[in-house]
Formats: sequence, structure tokens, C-alpha cells
Amino acid sequence: MSDDLSTDQLAALTEGLRDLLGPDGWLDPTDAPQLTVDYRGFYSGVPVLITRPDTVDGVRDVVVACAAAGVAVVTQGGRTSLSGGSVPTDYRPSVLLSTSRLNRITSVDPARFTITVEAGCTIEQVQQAAAAVDRQLGMDWGARGTATVGGAISTNAGGLNVLRYGPTRDSVLGLEAVLADGEVFDGMRALRKDNTGYDLKHLFIGGEGTLGVVNRAILKLFPRQDHHRTLFAALADLDHVNDLYARACALDHGGLTAFELVPESGLVGAVEVLGVVRPLETQAEWYLLARFSGSSPVDDTALTFLSAAVEAGLLLDAVVADTAAQEENLWLLRDELPPETLFDAKGAKFDAAVPIDRVAEFQRRTEVIAHDLCGPETVVFSFGHLGDGNLHMYVLKSLERGSRLEPDLIVEATRAIDRLVWEMGGTVSAEHGVGQDLLDRVAGQKSTVELDMMRRVKEALDPDNLFNPDRGAHSALSRKEGIG
Ligand SMILES: Cc1cc2nc3c(=O)[nH]c(=O)nc-3n(C[C@H](O)[C@H](O)[C@H](O)COP(=O)(O)OP(=O)(O)OC[C@H]3O[C@@H](n4cnc5c(N)ncnc54)[C@H](O)[C@@H]3O)c2cc1C
Repeated sequence: MSDDLSTDQLAALTEGLRDLLGPDGWLDPTDAPQLTVDYRGFYSGVPVLITRPDTVDGVRDVVVACAAAGVAVVTQGGRTSLSGGSVPTDYRPSVLLSTSRLNRITSVDPARFTITVEAGCTIEQVQQAAAAVDRQLGMDWGARGTATVGGAISTNAGGLNVLRYGPTRDSVLGLEAVLADGEVFDGMRALRKDNTGYDLKHLFIGGEGTLGVVNRAILKLFPRQDHHRTLFAALADLDHVNDLYARACALDHGGLTAFELVPESGLVGAVEVLGVVRPLETQAEWYLLARFSGSSPVDDTALTFLSAAVEAGLLLDAVVADTAAQEENLWLLRDELPPETLFDAKGAKFDAAVPIDRVAEFQRRTEVIAHDLCGPETVVFSFGHLGDGNLHMYVLKSLERGSRLEPDLIVEATRAIDRLVWEMGGTVSAEHGVGQDLLDRVAGQKSTVELDMMRRVKEALDPDNLFNPDRGAHSALSRKEGIG
């Protein structure tokens, strides 16, 4: 694919696409500048045209025309991903393919627990359609009102319900995608079992838009879980989390729907800044925020778990939310923990996961690295999805409002802590994909063999590097040298 397209060639492409798609099917980038910048404002790029097809044929038209012209296609859903995958780059002419008009719920089948949707439907839209037939979608996270099914599939998004329903991958029964040569991969099968060779839909799940455009999907639904008990507990020691998790799972594995870590400094910040009510008088360095859910009451489960854990000395104190207001207070605390929100503090940031039995070791070893590299007053602020071993971890200069870790220390700390993650058998991206953000960091984590397998898949399905060029894990191979 050539990077040196003439102005005339690009004008011919955009004119042709406008004619094909009709007046509602495209936007001039100058009329929608917000679509050219990523959620965090870190990455931006101006496409030659923003296209908005509303049918599979329209998607095919865009792909085929771009392939013929040698112009890249960057697919965009709700633009909420956090690693720079959904915006065009400036160094390569590209067309943005927005799925905003592929937003129809095609059918809901409560008896078979499935829903068929177009890729541009938001997660909230699908949740509401499921609730209307007394069913529940497994997928859920803070960006539900904007994030789309296509984006969730392409980033294999996790979120708040991973313990119970798994990441997005576990909710996808079938999907349809347009390939680089314009062929349509029809994997719209709602079968729960199908052992007939490679399960090709998985190439697109977590594929970050690098292998095709996902048009439609069949998602699993679940019985509604209307009974919840959320508890907040002071940990006697961070080392106990593995034992606590095993106890909670053994008691009610499917019923444990959240198992989150909260630091004391985060609790203090949330009380001061957000007016969160302190749930416990007892102070500890770390707290557990957990929830049991079910189709029938789960009060006994929560109380049995807590009393046994306190008796075993794993918890110092605990409380169960008794009212909707108390429950809301606990989830407000959890949702607003990022230090950017609480303290306007910025530093080195990690979305890492390690095996849950090594979470405490990971926190301690990170503190040692951070103190050695950045000074003894440095804070390692961690919170998040403890049950998945997934910590949202920040190395901060301090917890003072507006604190900033120096850029060179961010680079050094990131490099050293990434190495620790690799050594501990973890991942530098538990949830947010690779995008443009993590190419070097993924290159260090994955073996040459693994990266080369990804490269070969990409070359087989998209030999001209049409889709989302220069992002996604397969692009990391060229960066492997020297990182090791
Ligand atoms: C407040 C907030 C909370 C969040 N919480 C979580 C969380 O708990 N867990 C989590 O995993 N993520 C979380 N995210 C990240 C984000 O919401 C997810 O990554 C989401 O899946 C992205 O969906 P999107 O529609 O916004 O995709 P986009 O950002 O538009 O795109 C993401 C990637 O998918 C590709 N893509 C999009 N649609 C298609 C398609 N139809 N076909 C092919 N490729 C496509 C894009 O090219 C890009 O590479 C959060 C984000 C925010 C802002």
C-alpha cells in the first residue's frame, strides 16, 4: 500500500465514497473534529473522510474502495478505548469507518438466551433490550453508554462482571465481519457447541480492528440477577487476598460478582473530595469491596463469608450494605478511585494483571522499585479488579493535589515495572488492549514466536495492511529487538 497518494487520487476516493454512501453516510473531518482525537486526548489523526455506513453492503463498499485506492481503514465505535486504537494516524492516509449508524438490535430470543445486534449498538442499549425481556447482558463497565458492541468485541473488554460472566470473548456466540478483500466472514451462529476446526470468530475478538470490520454479533444473555449484597471489609493483610478469594468462590463461585481492592488513601480521598461516607470506623491499609449476586436472595452467603473470614483473622472488620444508598455509596467510592479524579495526580500508570496469589508480592516489589528509582516519598496507589489479579496501579510523586511525576521517571519506572510484570508471568494490558500505546511494552512481554504467529495471521488475512495499520500486538514484532 502506498503512502504517497496524490491529492487527485484521494479526492477521487472521497468523491466515490460520498456517492456510494449517500448524504447521511459520510462526514467531513472538519465537521466532526471530536472523532479524530482519542478519549484521553493523547492521539489524533485526520482521515481523508469519515464514513458512516448503515448496512453490511455499505461497509463492504468502503473497504473495497479503500483497498483499491491503497488507503487505510480505521474502524471506530464509541471511541472510549484507552490505548489509542480508534483514531486515524496522520502519517498514513486513512478513511475512518464509524459504526454509529450500525445501531440496530436485530432480534432478542429470551428462550434461547441470545440477542442479535449490530456492531454500533452501545452496551447500554443492549442491556436495556435484554432487561425488557427479563434477561441480562453479562458485559458491563463505566463507559456503557458510549462503548459499542464492536469496540467491546475488538478490545475483548472486561469490566465489572468478569468474575461472573468472563470478558467479552465469553459472551460472543457468533459474529460477522468484512475482510480486507471485501469478502464477508459469516460466523453468525448461535450454537453453544461447534467443534469443526478453528473457531475463526476469535480472531476478531481482541483483534483491535486489525483483521476486519465487525458488523453484527450474537451475544449470550443470562437470567436476571436482581438480588445483590455488597460488602466492605478491612483486610488484616494484603497477603490474605488469595485465601479470601478462594473462600468466596468455594462458597458461591458463580455468585461472586465483584472482588475489588480499595486502598486507605483512596478511601480518605473519596471522603474528602466526593463526600463518600466512610463505611467502617476501623482503619486498615487495604479494603475489600465484594458483591454476591443471584436470582434469589444472597444475604446468607455474604454473612457466612464475612463471619468465617473475621473468625479466621483474615479481616479486621466488615459491613454489608443494607440500603440502596449505602450500596450506591460503596460503588461511588469504587468508580471514582482513579487518582486523576481524586487528586488530579499523574504519574506512571499500569493496567497490569498477575496471578492473584502474587498480587501482594507484586504490590510490595513495585513499591521497592518505585522508591529506588523515584525516591522514598513516592506512592504506589493501587486499586481494582483483585479477583482477576488486575490492578490499576499508579506510581505517583505524592498524593498531594496536582502532583506530577517527572517524565523521565515515568519512563524509567514503566520500564522497570513492566519487567517485573513479565517476570511474574503477568500482562501489561489486562483490559485496555495494545492500540498505539503499548507496542514496546507488549514486545517485551511476548515471545518472538508468539508475535510472529500474530504477524503471519495478519499477513494472511490483510496482506496490504489495510486495517488499523501500525497498531495492535502483531505490530510489536518489529520492536522486539533490544527489549527482550
Ligand atoms: C470510563 C471508562 C471506563 C472503562 N472501563 C473499562 C473496563 O472496566 N474494562 C475494559 O475492558 N475497558 C474499559 N474501558 C475501555 C473501553 O470502554 C473499552 O475498550 C470498549 O470496549 C471500547 O469500545 P468502543 O466502542 O469505545 O471502541 P473504540 O474505542 O471506538 O475502538 C476500540 C478498538 O476497537 C476497534 N473497533 C471498534 N469497533 C469495531 C468494529 N465494529 N470492528 C472492528 N474493529 C472495531 C477500533 O478500531 C479500536 O482499535 C473504559 C473506558 C472508559 C472511558
